[in-house]
Amino acid sequence: MTRAEKLQERIDLVVIDDRCSDELSSGFRTFLSNLSPSHSITSIKFCIWSLIQEHLDDAFSNTMAKFEGTWNSDLLSDLRLSEVGLRLPKKTVHVTVRKKFKPVELKVPLIKPEAMPPANWQLLIMSYWDLNLNTALRLMTRSRKRPSGLKKLLSQSEPQVVSRPEDELYGALELARELILLLAYFRPKSTTKIPDHDSVPDSTTCSQEKTFCELCWRPTIRSSLLNEMPRPTADIDNYWKSIVNSGRVSNRYCETHKPGSNGYHADLRYKKAFERQLQVLMSRRNISTYAIDLMPNDHTMVALRKTAYEQVHARLRPISSSYEAAVGLKEKIWPLWCQGLSQSEIARELGVTRQAVFKALAELRDIVSAHHASCDFDPITDELRISQQIQDSIRIGLENKESPSSIAKSVGLTKATVLELARSIAKLKE
Ligand SMILES: [Zn+2]
Repeated sequence: MTRAEKLQERIDLVVIDDRCSDELSSGFRTFLSNLSPSHSITSIKFCIWSLIQEHLDDAFSNTMAKFEGTWNSDLLSDLRLSEVGLRLPKKTVHVTVRKKFKPVELKVPLIKPEAMPPANWQLLIMSYWDLNLNTALRLMTRSRKRPSGLKKLLSQSEPQVVSRPEDELYGALELARELILLLAYFRPKSTTKIPDHDSVPDSTTCSQEKTFCELCWRPTIRSSLLNEMPRPTADIDNYWKSIVNSGRVSNRYCETHKPGSNGYHADLRYKKAFERQLQVLMSRRNISTYAIDLMPNDHTMVALRKTAYEQVHARLRPISSSYEAAVGLKEKIWPLWCQGLSQSEIARELGVTRQAVFKALAELRDIVSAHHASCDFDPITDELRISQQIQDSIRIGLENKESPSSIAKSVGLTKATVLELARSIAKLKE
């Protein structure tokens, strides 16, 4: 997908809150229609900020000014949409022990660290505004809640009166958040203002989206490096130098499939079949060449990729670099079994022993159940969700130097999953 297509797809997802004033929502629509793929949050020629100023600033300020009720305006004082990535808010939010929000003076460095790419700095500023917007919205909703207990019972019949300006304020704050969300996609293609580098492609300093390993479902080395980088602490310049340096590690393969490693050589043979099966699962094109298709639990990218990976590694057919490999015995048995033929009938039909049929069916059952047991991902972290009990059994197996395949068999998971968990267990020990 080109940058233009990606951005258009994102623009199409924008929702304009219908509580917004007409002035604000029509301004937002004009702003969206004027956006081009050349626009970016750091571009001077295609300046996104002046576009915002032209179409949104006044309408937004009008809504803020119209509202006369009380709300926590401290957090958003002097907010102008065209400066939401250029100037830090004066106050930020502090959550006290009792879960109360308290606006406090912002204590972050007020100028951009030298080694930090300008786009990342702007996004950092936006994240502070977004936090304030979100908090202001929550505080408003909370103050509108009905009184509890007996009072609540008594007041139930009274309809809640919501003033028009209050509604518009809600709409405007939601729209501001929607705008910030959108702006994060308008990063520049590259940045030139970093010490020691002529120009650094933006994709090396920011994981704009998760990049997957070409051979499996894990993120690439660079993608996980950028995602796992701890928040900058005291030495902020060094932090940004290491981010920029992360551009030098692979964005094609994961840690397990580092080029030259055993994992890489073992799985490179499956690459074509893997890609093809992934296409099948994403129902883009291609019809599965397998008699049995494993199905993902949900349709997140990580679940689709893991399912495709398990499908091609399930030993249904001989390993081959071409996906037109000979159909394996298990695959020949499956459709006959589904037609209701008995094991002896299948054996006769295929010219194999009844024991072979029995064994193949048992293995098929294991493949499918192992796949289902290991296909559950946490939707937020994309981490595998496996019970503590099973994790403990894997740990004990590893300590007893059992092979990953035999551990996999005893806990009813696939070998790939066991290896994955073994890696995260080793990481925890470090
Ligand atoms: Zn990989």
